[in-house]
Amino acid sequence: MLNIVIFGAPGSGKGTQSAKLVEKYGLIHLSTGEILRDEIKADTELGKLADSYMSKGRLVPDAVVIDILDNLIGKYGDAKGFIFDGFPRTLAQGEALGEMLEKHEEDINAVLCLEVEEKELIDRVVKRGRVSGRDDDNRETIESRLEVYHIQTEPLKEFYREKGVLRNIQGVGSIDQIFGSIEQVIDQIGK
Ligand code: ADP
Repeated sequence: MLNIVIFGAPGSGKGTQSAKLVEKYGLIHLSTGEILRDEIKADTELGKLADSYMSKGRLVPDAVVIDILDNLIGKYGDAKGFIFDGFPRTLAQGEALGEMLEKHEEDINAVLCLEVEEKELIDRVVKRGRVSGRDDDNRETIESRLEVYHIQTEPLKEFYREKGVLRNIQGVGSIDQIFGSIEQVIDQIGK
């Protein structure tokens, strides 16, 4: 299996590049943000719980997202591999993902870290908010999401650097240029 984590701050382009990875490598895209937004749309109990955190720009509790992922990984046992988008977002989630994959004798092959400077992130998310209809895509919420990213999510970079799988990707440029850098990294895996 080819298991990729696409990592980066809100607005760094994780969803956009994931779509291209799905197309080229036939991976299963697991976006915790999308899964949670679907639950909110369907007005389920899980959706109501998730919304109470997401609308404030906070993280949904670890146990909730870990449980969702654990079920999905089990369900797609015969996949070519996964793209984890928006997960892990805390060290506890990172540990849990390692354990889940280990159960299936799998591992993370690369963590692609999309590097985009803060001002650009804010501009992109505010712009996206005008068309996405996402109620967390506004100036106020993006500021808390970035703070949460720095405090809770960024420590994962060191976690994956130590494991030797972290790869930095310049996240500014055209979508195809950025994808070109990603392809180079993926084509090196296993060589
Ligand atoms: P972005 O990366 O642009 O913030 P996402 O769709 O990945 O967009 O996430 C949107 C929101 O969903 C997050 O701000 C958070 O509230 C919630 N969320 C998504 N993934 C996770 C996760 N792994 N753990 C906790 N909360 C999550």
